[in-house]
Amino acid sequence: MTLPGHPYFSFVGSELHAEGCSLRDLAQRFQTPLYVYSRQAMLAALCPYQSALQGRAHLICYAVKANSNLSVLKVFAEAGCGFDIVSGGELERVLAAGGDPAKVVFSGVGKTRAEMRQAIEAGVRCFNVESIAELDVLSEVAVSIGRRAPVSLRVNPDVDPKTHPYISTGLKGNKFGIAHAQALEAYLHASRLPGLEVAGIDCHIGSQITETDPYLDALDRVLDLVEAIEAAGIPIHHLDLGGGLGITYADETPPSADALIGLLLQRLQSRGHAHRELLFEPGRSLVGNAGVLVTEVLFLKPSEQKNFCIVDAAMNDLLRPALYEAHMGIVNCKEATTAPALTWDIVGPVCESGDWLGRERQVAVQPGDLLAVMSAGAYGMSMASNYNSRGKPAEVLVDGQSAQLVRRRETTQELFAHEKPE
Ligand SMILES: *Cc1c(COP(=O)(O)O)cnc(C)c1O
Repeated sequence: MTLPGHPYFSFVGSELHAEGCSLRDLAQRFQTPLYVYSRQAMLAALCPYQSALQGRAHLICYAVKANSNLSVLKVFAEAGCGFDIVSGGELERVLAAGGDPAKVVFSGVGKTRAEMRQAIEAGVRCFNVESIAELDVLSEVAVSIGRRAPVSLRVNPDVDPKTHPYISTGLKGNKFGIAHAQALEAYLHASRLPGLEVAGIDCHIGSQITETDPYLDALDRVLDLVEAIEAAGIPIHHLDLGGGLGITYADETPPSADALIGLLLQRLQSRGHAHRELLFEPGRSLVGNAGVLVTEVLFLKPSEQKNFCIVDAAMNDLLRPALYEAHMGIVNCKEATTAPALTWDIVGPVCESGDWLGRERQVAVQPGDLLAVMSAGAYGMSMASNYNSRGKPAEVLVDGQSAQLVRRRETTQELFAHEKPE
């Protein structure tokens, strides 16, 4: 029986499997907490993007920050993807994983001169520039090394993506992008700078978006600008429509990538822009439902007010519930355990009341059971920290019956290796 919304995770007998691998076996081999990713689930999530864009000029740039494990990057590099990066560190990861720098777009509001130089020298496809001040500095850096940097301006279309305020980025009050009203002026400025070459236009309005209207509204606003910018004599080659497509964590019903892209293509066609090269920057929708975090139940602590189920994974391993009050599905890796299903708050060992993974969950648990936190492939390990001197979890990539350890568990010695007692 596969889990609804998780076709690559299913109960075989009574044991939850990732593809052909039992999570219990993986937990025994690699201990817990343990991130487990399904390679097939990632490729299956990429497929609707690729098929919707087949036959037209496009580039799918996987957003590295969603899950930056080298083996995950390699899966997408081998599938022909480019990458959306937000730091020099992510660029190094992409190169280490065999990614093509000519397929990399560099986003982010605070690129340093060193990062700009590093990315120009690596030969990235495009800088997504987020302010007029950044244009000036980027041009200076490019001139200083005798190069021209390809740029898109990230414009802020001021549309409400109707998602959590921490992950909406395309509204006027956000730090991201250049205001719609200033965009034309910014393009004119960019076109006069000696170190820049205008390549395209970019927008990214937020994350975990579950409706199509915000995308279509943003596209309309971007096309209005493209028309104005080209009328001013500056050709725009590609449109980068960002990432942000949501996934099902609980009962959300986001459009599929091919349905969304189908609508965007229709709109482009009806407005006479069908010829444009399209870039997308999906992160969460490619990896979110391809991963789980496996954790062991340490203690049960029932009480009059609340029942606490204390597990060995914590907010340092998976921050989304503490940071966004995000809901993540939690299932017992062994189906039909004999313990009665009570209502539990699933919490970790970290000394913070915000350290919970799930609240008021009805699940049958006993000490020693393994739980799988579902949909943990995106913004899980990539946001993990060492708070409370906890080493980061190990990561495993499953492909059919085979499981590779793609990052080993951190040791405590590694945590303080850079410190020096005086
Ligand atoms: C985070 C981010 C993405 C990816 O967003 P998802 O919601 O994971 O698809 C894409 N582009 C930019 C600029 C980002 O900051």
